[in-house]
Amino acid sequence: MPTLTPFDLCSRNTLALPCQGAKVQVVDSVDDAVNVLSGWGELARPLVIGLGSNLVLPELLEEPVLIIRGGSVQFMEGQGDSVTVVADAGVVWDELVAQCVGAGWRGLENLSLIPGTVGAAPVQNIGAYGVELKDSLIYVDVFDFESMSRRRLEAQACKFDYRDSIFKREPRRFVVLRVAFRLNKNAPFTLAYGELKYLASEPDVTVQAIRAKVISVRQAKLPDPACIPNAGSFFKNPVVSKDQALRLANRFPEMVQYPLTDGQVKLAAGWLIDQAGWKGHRASRAGIHERQALVLTNLGGATQSDILELANDVYQSVLDLYGVELEIEPVIV
Ligand SMILES: Cc1cc2nc3c(=O)[nH]c(=O)nc-3n(C[C@H](O)[C@H](O)[C@H](O)COP(=O)(O)OP(=O)(O)OC[C@H]3O[C@@H](n4cnc5c(N)ncnc54)[C@H](O)[C@@H]3O)c2cc1C
Repeated sequence: MPTLTPFDLCSRNTLALPCQGAKVQVVDSVDDAVNVLSGWGELARPLVIGLGSNLVLPELLEEPVLIIRGGSVQFMEGQGDSVTVVADAGVVWDELVAQCVGAGWRGLENLSLIPGTVGAAPVQNIGAYGVELKDSLIYVDVFDFESMSRRRLEAQACKFDYRDSIFKREPRRFVVLRVAFRLNKNAPFTLAYGELKYLASEPDVTVQAIRAKVISVRQAKLPDPACIPNAGSFFKNPVVSKDQALRLANRFPEMVQYPLTDGQVKLAAGWLIDQAGWKGHRASRAGIHERQALVLTNLGGATQSDILELANDVYQSVLDLYGVELEIEPVIV
């Protein structure tokens, strides 16, 4: 059984924030994770860290931390055109996508190159290019601290929403152990999003071609955390009422707006921040990426408070200018 030790978590978060974990347990399998959690008991609900690509960590973390590494991916046979894929929490998300796409299975290709682990993917229902995790997810196996036991949550019980789920709404209750997906050989592709649209008119577009395109678009648009530390989009796209959207459109005719099926309207957080003049902004240790206004970066030596101070300034200026409240996407610990 692995041991509980102090651990430098700076290299375990993509913002590269300095963070000393006082009590960190690293395990290499789902079964070890369950043994550790059962042993710790109800009161020691840990912070689970995957690859730290959606976390804003403090300089000192005294609570217990669990890191689940590695694991396997299983393809269940015998379902005609479809397959059930079950992946352990510690598997790197993009390695799972690469395996599925490599075998010709459709469903996860638009989610290529999203950093992180399989275990974290249901937490904020990861999404990109018109596809969300929930679209192909069947169930999530968890350790539930309320019953102190393993259980299975079917997709509906996960309460998925835009960048949201029961795992985010009830933090520290569940540890995700495994995730199961239903993928298909012949399902229609989702190609409605900007840079993928032209593929819809290609005669023999393949799942591999879509993954390759998604990867090249992401590499061109988003800074690589290995070179410029960041946590991806720092704010969610805000959703406003139809009336507010109309008032905003009258004042700012060029504002980007996406009507939703429930009558509300989604605004582009990146556009609001860009128009408020933040793109390329550099404070002493934290900044806003020069090509992507949604991405806050560690310019060198930033701590959690540098990042949160800048985020607060951005929040306030968008509120003053547009009357719209931004919501932070990563988890602030
Ligand atoms: C450059 C970049 C681009 C990104 N692009 C996208 C994108 O296109 N779409 C998108 O949705 N996200 C995106 N993200 C955000 C991030 O990749 C996802 O949120 C990802 O799922 C986080 O995985 P992780 O393993 O790094 O989780 P962590 O950051 O380690 O953890 C995130 C949260 O999940 C919890 N958690 C982690 N593992 C488990 C587990 N096994 N059980 C229970 N809780 C757990 C943590 O406690 C924490 O609350 C991007 C991030 C970066 C840096």
